[in-house]
Amino acid sequence: MTDSKLNLLDLDRKGMEAHVADLGYKPFQGRNLFKWIHKHGADSFDGMTDLAKKLRHQLEETAVIKPPEIVFEQPSLDGTTKWILELEDGQRIETVYIPEEGRGTLCVSSQVGCALDCSFCSTAQQGFNRNLSTAEIIGQVWIAAAELDEDQPLTNVVMMGMGEPLANFDAVVAAMDIMQDDLAYKLSKYRVTLSTSGIVPALKKLGEVSNASLAVSLHAPDNSLRDELVPINRKYPLEMLIPACKAFIEGDRRRKITWEYVMLHDVNDSDRHAKALIRLLEGVPSKINLIPFNPFPGSHYRSSSPERVEAFRMRLKRAGLIATTRKTRGDDIDAACGQLVGKVKDKSKRQLRNMRQGAGR
Ligand code: SAH
Repeated sequence: MTDSKLNLLDLDRKGMEAHVADLGYKPFQGRNLFKWIHKHGADSFDGMTDLAKKLRHQLEETAVIKPPEIVFEQPSLDGTTKWILELEDGQRIETVYIPEEGRGTLCVSSQVGCALDCSFCSTAQQGFNRNLSTAEIIGQVWIAAAELDEDQPLTNVVMMGMGEPLANFDAVVAAMDIMQDDLAYKLSKYRVTLSTSGIVPALKKLGEVSNASLAVSLHAPDNSLRDELVPINRKYPLEMLIPACKAFIEGDRRRKITWEYVMLHDVNDSDRHAKALIRLLEGVPSKINLIPFNPFPGSHYRSSSPERVEAFRMRLKRAGLIATTRKTRGDDIDAACGQLVGKVKDKSKRQLRNMRQGAGR
């Protein structure tokens, strides 16, 4: 709600139809409205000529189309663009556009901060404040579509920005539905990817309501190391996570799970780890994405050398796995993986705790 007006970016297609029906109009007017907003990027009602005049008037009185506000648009030397967006309560999130040969990927945030505390991620250090609304999530796509030039296609969305998308289930699912809607951004199920640290019950539920693609932040091939790097593993260990992931893609032979694996020097990057990873993923249709660690102030990890990353990758390849190394993009503007921090009014007191620990060192 904005000034007690309804923000129409909060509604998926069905919601829009229902809302328009509530106002006394046929569902197709809702579809038209939905199309104006997401296909044509409208943020006011006057140009919506195929909508009943009275409906337009009613909407003007009761509704808004209000994405987050752009505070800053920051281009990187490699073509990556980062937007810093301010929400109604003054908090800030980040969205990143990453152009590649023939495609363009938008990295979208799902929460203000993150509650999960992965030890190598700078978003974690910011602590957590709240979930984003559907409007604030799809608003990031709306903004990118409006700001990008014709030679900057928006072909993929990854829910890999700030936050744990499965901890904000309903809003994320609604936003991903809009991304895939033919009347909106029309992205296929293979081009909308949710990345999770592995909240197993939510993952099972996701399989029932969404057909988006799945990426999982694995980062370790065994429980003891993963407990340390991705603490949610203590609650949902690998013997729960791996079968849930397998079940997620069952029935679609084109599908694979993308496993994200951040390469940390002398932590998870040895031949022993590669072997354990090969064993762990046996029989799971997989793509492994090795991510060079992006350092940030206060982190005590170091990135594996490029040679180590390549040796690790080759080992996986020789075992028949598909393994790629994610190119670090946008690191000159702190837009790379794990560098997104926004401005979070921390409710978890983690910032304070970290500061105290830092002072005691
Ligand atoms: N919470 C979700 C979505 C975030 S995705 C998840 O965990 O999957 C962001 C990706 O970047 C994750 O795979 C995360 O583990 C990785 N990442 C976090 N910090 C990083 C860093 N400093 N360097 C490289 N990758 C990092």
